[in-house]
Amino acid sequence: MIRPIVLYGSPVLRQRAEPVTPDDPELTALLRDLWDTMYNANGVGLAAPQIGVSKQVFVVDAHELQSPEEEPFKQAFINPRLISTNDLCTGYEEGCLSIPGIRERIYRPTIIEVEFYDESFHLHRRTFSGIVARIFQHEYDHLMGQLFIDYLSPIRRQLLRRKLKEIAAGEVEAHYPMLHAR
Ligand code: ZN
Repeated sequence: MIRPIVLYGSPVLRQRAEPVTPDDPELTALLRDLWDTMYNANGVGLAAPQIGVSKQVFVVDAHELQSPEEEPFKQAFINPRLISTNDLCTGYEEGCLSIPGIRERIYRPTIIEVEFYDESFHLHRRTFSGIVARIFQHEYDHLMGQLFIDYLSPIRRQLLRRKLKEIAAGEVEAHYPMLHAR
C-alpha cells in the first residue's frame, strides 16, 4: 500500500526509532508499504519514520544510481547498526523524500561496516562503499531522528529557512502523497 510520506517538521522524523522484534505482526505489511511507497515516489531509499512508523526498518534500491558494471543493490534493513566508517569523506548532492525540493552537498564517509537483519531475521555483517554506503547512512540517520540538512552549516541552513517552513506547512509540490504536521 502506498502511504503518504511524512514531511519535515513532523515530530516522528525527530524520534529515535524502536527496534523490531522477530514476532512483530506488522513487519511484513510495513516492509511491503515501504517498498510500494518508495517506488511510487521514485526514491532509492525509505525509512519507516518517513511513513509515520517509529521502527528501525528501512529499504534501499540503489540500482538507478549505480554504475552498469555494479551488481544492482536491493535490500531491506531491520535493526541496522553502523559499526565503523573510514576516515575519508566525500561530498554528494543528497535529497530526501521528506524534504522535497531541497538538494544539498553532504559529506560522508565512503566505506562503512554494518550489521543488520533481513526480512527473514537473518543477521548480516557487510561492508558497503560508494552510493550504497551513502544511502545506508542517510536512511540510518532517519532511524536516529537525524536529517541530512542537520549536516549543513548554520549559514546554509539559514538560507533554507523559508523553504523548510513552507515544507513543514505542506506548501510544497511533489508527485507523491505527502503528510505535513500542521
Ligand atoms: Zn531521507
